[in-house]
Amino acid sequence: MSFKEFQLSQPLNNAISDMGFTKASEVQQKAIPILRTHKGDFVGQAQTGTGKTAAFVIPLLEQIDLDSKNVQTLVLTPTRELANQVYEEVVKLAKYLPVKATTVYGGVPYTRQINALKKDRPQIVVGTPGRIIDLIKQKILKLNDCHHLIIDEADEMLNMGFVEDVQTIIDSLNKNKRMWMFSATMHAQVIRLIEKKFSKPKIMKVEKKTLSNEDIKQYYCVVRKKYFVEALQRFIDSTEECYGMIFCETRQETKELAEFMLTKGISVVALHGELGQAQRDFAMRKFKEKRADFLVCTDVAGRGIDVSNITHVFNMGLPRQNESYVHRIGRTGRAGTKGTAISFTTPGDIRKLKQIEYMIGQKIEKLKLPNSTDLKKIKVFNELNKMNALKVAVVDKDEAFKIDQTFEYFQGYFQDLSKDQILKLLFSYRFNKEIRQIDDSAHLEARPKDRQISPRSNRGRRHNGKGFSRSSRSR
Ligand code: ADP
Ligand code: MG
Repeated sequence: MSFKEFQLSQPLNNAISDMGFTKASEVQQKAIPILRTHKGDFVGQAQTGTGKTAAFVIPLLEQIDLDSKNVQTLVLTPTRELANQVYEEVVKLAKYLPVKATTVYGGVPYTRQINALKKDRPQIVVGTPGRIIDLIKQKILKLNDCHHLIIDEADEMLNMGFVEDVQTIIDSLNKNKRMWMFSATMHAQVIRLIEKKFSKPKIMKVEKKTLSNEDIKQYYCVVRKKYFVEALQRFIDSTEECYGMIFCETRQETKELAEFMLTKGISVVALHGELGQAQRDFAMRKFKEKRADFLVCTDVAGRGIDVSNITHVFNMGLPRQNESYVHRIGRTGRAGTKGTAISFTTPGDIRKLKQIEYMIGQKIEKLKLPNSTDLKKIKVFNELNKMNALKVAVVDKDEAFKIDQTFEYFQGYFQDLSKDQILKLLFSYRFNKEIRQIDDSAHLEARPKDRQISPRSNRGRRHNGKGFSRSSRSR
């Protein structure tokens, strides 16, 4: 269905076509008509990357009183990055409307945000719960005329511990406000919040055969934790085009992996909680502009990031919470493009993998690591290609090599060797060490501990990060 069929106003239609959107996504087809007409609360569930943002921004913009410059809508997002993304979508969709928006979130000084609120008089404020509460308390953010509260990525927000903050914000708004919530999953906390604070919301659910996007090919690979990085490197080395996000469990792992990749000459940026806002922005910009091929991040830092054309998502271990899996892999395969998700899984985590498969209603395929023969071939051919480029530029063009005088030492040194011996000498000198490394790690793949364990006996089993604690049978 095309956007034209909604018969939106000219300014909205123009903005939508400037953005290159022609057909409305399924979420948009379902949510927009409800949000335009339904006067009560609303809850929408759909997987990531389905266009939920435009689904609420379009009807919202129709409902902004253009004559009033008071804050009329509050959009809550779990992270600063998401606040920026929603803000950008608002700005694009409101391109031909006299509607202003601003962002407020923690980690940056108050001054600019306060100035924006006071001077620009935005009708739409997008932000994270903590800073919004601060500004409400300081009486800088005035919500007397706020008629819409939008809770975006609600499951993420609650996972991150914002339950009380969200409730405080709900309570500080007018009784007759409309609340719209969007969430990829409906876990218990989300349902509890709806039951507690929403009044008979209209529920919209976009059913999919599978919870995660079908455009994402999903694989797993069983590797011991200490070999995760090497396994990752093999995939990167053997994949021609790779523009990817790599998820780690902790800040420390994120930092270490990024540093390691840099030493290998891979262009990578890291995103984790220890960085200041300026550093985070810098990293995001570098990655978005494709000046870095990889973004290494923790779950929290990588939430909801919408960067186009990500080809791969790598999981350095399965996420602690199964729901995070869906969010992680949803960073690729966005807006109809294809993507690949590869999860490195410890032998003990196979059970968790099965739970995830059950949750998403889809099988995750086992993938073999690129084998050492392939890797060696790639290494040698990479070098040969570079040498060949020089040959093409010089020999094939009948030019002379630009060669330093010291070449004469080189030339005379191995005079007694045959051509065959010289080639072998150069090959060994150049490749032996790297080839030995590949051979040493030939058997990275581990065997899954795929025992049938009854759900009862599984209770209380905990990961210790290095593998599994003793098997339940031995207890
Ligand atoms: P979600 O919030 O459901 O995860 P987003 O709203 O972030 O998804 O949208 C994902 C991507 O798809 C964004 O880059 C957005 O600009 C794009 N997009 C949204 N709607 C459409 C559409 N109708 N046609 C083309 N691209 C779209
Ligand atoms: Mg979203």
